[in-house]
Amino acid sequence: MRISFLGTGTSHGVPVVACSCPVCRSADPRDRRFRSSVVIEAAPGGAGAGADGGGPAAVLVDAGPEFRLQALRAGIHRLDALLLTHAHADHLHGLDDVRPLSREAPLRVYGDRAALAETRERFSYAFREGQKGGGKPRLELLEAPAAGFGIKGLRILPVPLLHGALPVLGWRFGAFAYLTDCSAIPESSLPLLEGVEVAALDGLRYRPHPTHFSVDKAIAAARRLGLRETWLTHLTHDASHAELEAYCAARGADVGARPAWDGLVLDLP
Ligand SMILES: [Zn+2]
Ligand SMILES: [Zn+2]
Ligand SMILES: [Zn+2]
Repeated sequence: MRISFLGTGTSHGVPVVACSCPVCRSADPRDRRFRSSVVIEAAPGGAGAGADGGGPAAVLVDAGPEFRLQALRAGIHRLDALLLTHAHADHLHGLDDVRPLSREAPLRVYGDRAALAETRERFSYAFREGQKGGGKPRLELLEAPAAGFGIKGLRILPVPLLHGALPVLGWRFGAFAYLTDCSAIPESSLPLLEGVEVAALDGLRYRPHPTHFSVDKAIAAARRLGLRETWLTHLTHDASHAELEAYCAARGADVGARPAWDGLVLDLP
């Protein structure tokens, strides 16, 4: 399984429009963060590879405002499904740009009921009858089964999380979990994460925030989950990549904590 980080920035992205702080002016490419998203690809030749339409499973998590640029940069040529964590603008508003990937067949979009209802409302034109001939993404909205589901042999499990008071979904794929936009992992979700070794975790910034884990809270959550590798994502311009890396090495080495970056690729069994 290959996990590619398409974006690792918070809702406004980094650099922030009209900001001239040192991080926003940094020359380190890892300080340029698109809105948060990952793509998961099953290993070529792995379970289910080649079944129903070419290549191993390829699943996108969230379609933020830079989805088009992210897809071009990562060379995404096809998708089997889009998994939504929630319907905030920074996770959804690139949805129109899945159009070229929904030509052959409607793209399956999995989420919780609230995220799907929001999607239908914000992208109402995509669900209205109208003339044929492009201009609309073809989407099939599907409520994620709580017990999980499979796509070409890739097992996918939704993991309920709390983003402040808002229930959102994390997503588990085998020993990897993608847990962004969360300020708490409910007790009832802990069994769903048993056996996860590597995770991407919301680690917004050093200072506390009402709807996101801070870096310290993310490290504490990683300890509770017993992670071996912890990749912080959804990061602000409060700290540079280099500063965060040093902070994580000092405070979270036991859970392998590090800041993720756009373009990071993890290959897991
Ligand atoms: Zn977000
Ligand atoms: Zn800035
Ligand atoms: Zn959010």
